[in-house]
Amino acid sequence: MNDRVIPVRDARRAAPIRTPGLGAAVGPVADRRGRQMRDLRISITDRCNFRCTYCMPKTVFGRDYPFLPRDELLSFEEIARIARIFVAHGVSKIRLTGGEPLLRRNIERLIEMLAAIPDLELTLTTNGSLLARKSRSLRDAGLQRVTVSLDALDDLTFRKMNDVDFPVAQVLDGIAAAEAAGLGPIKVNMVVKRGTNDHAILPMARHFRAAPTQRGHIVRFIEYMDVGSSNGWKLDQVIPSAEVVELISAEMPLDAVGPNYPGEVAARWRYRDGGGEIGVISSVTQAFCSGCTRVRLATDGSLYTCLFATKGHDLRGLLRAGRSDQEIGAALGALWNDRNDNYSEQRSAETTALRKIEMSYIGG
Ligand code: SAM
Ligand code: SF4
Ligand code: SF4
Repeated sequence: MNDRVIPVRDARRAAPIRTPGLGAAVGPVADRRGRQMRDLRISITDRCNFRCTYCMPKTVFGRDYPFLPRDELLSFEEIARIARIFVAHGVSKIRLTGGEPLLRRNIERLIEMLAAIPDLELTLTTNGSLLARKSRSLRDAGLQRVTVSLDALDDLTFRKMNDVDFPVAQVLDGIAAAEAAGLGPIKVNMVVKRGTNDHAILPMARHFRAAPTQRGHIVRFIEYMDVGSSNGWKLDQVIPSAEVVELISAEMPLDAVGPNYPGEVAARWRYRDGGGEIGVISSVTQAFCSGCTRVRLATDGSLYTCLFATKGHDLRGLLRAGRSDQEIGAALGALWNDRNDNYSEQRSAETTALRKIEMSYIGG
């Protein structure tokens, strides 16, 4: 294992969370930059059946990689309890992620528990490999939508990028099954890496745009980010979103459209001829920290207030120390009040070299 990588177990060194007594245990909370806490991403497993070269390269996540033992994962009961506390603080959307969330055994039971929380949007991000089998049971359990990651439509490029020789056809079958089960509108995430899959941008846009009278899927082109420390990220591998929009628009003209809600991270572009829309997520070239309302719960129950954090906060410790919902709610409120993160606005050679937490552990 490369010594620049933070192994998941290092997160045991997550900072203890202060319990400030009688602070507000419920109600909306704003951080030091005036941003409210609205979206919670929960990584429910650090394991994955893919080894995407930009996320879990085999050189680091090899056979001997120390994934978390079971008792260090949050249980479904713990996740559902903490989700309710977050919702009481104004979180209105939860996304399950990972690693590959569909690898977590009995995930349907967790979804049932979360779906019982009122006024909550419940979604999941997956590599799609198990969707053909699981879409129906996920929908029946109460999942509302899925986002599927897919980096190319040509089999050769896709197999190379997932690095486990997984065929693209099975992911496409999964997307079709998700649509048939009612898990739409489906978003398709493509991480764009210069020299690796830039040739796949146009085919992806063409394939998923809507035919007349049909609903297309929304492809979101994501700038390759310096998350974690294992992927050897370099700035010249990033294709700025502006370039992606220009390339697509030259063939299929696009118009900019406003966000669906405040703080939406994808900038939206609509095909002028009515073929639906795409999104671009430009964390590197156009930081969106000023509207960032996201909080992340890592696989072991550490809490992160930024995707690029170097340190988490030990929420699992509070849960397992017998603290009441009120105490935990007050602690979370105080933690968010103190948040000042704006990594993408400050990205530099120095920040890129920091030992940051891995994407598969904190979720996308
Ligand atoms: N395994 C699931 C999947 O791939 O959809 C969920 C977890 S994955 C970490 C979540 C998202 O993060 C995926 O869409 C993935 O493409 C994206 N991602 C991972 N590493 C990235 C990087 N370095 N830059 C940009 N996006 C990345
Ligand atoms: Fe697995 Fe998702 Fe990371 Fe790919 S991006 S290695 S599918 S967690
Ligand atoms: Fe939010 Fe951190 Fe990303 Fe900025 S860098 S948008 S604060 S997660």
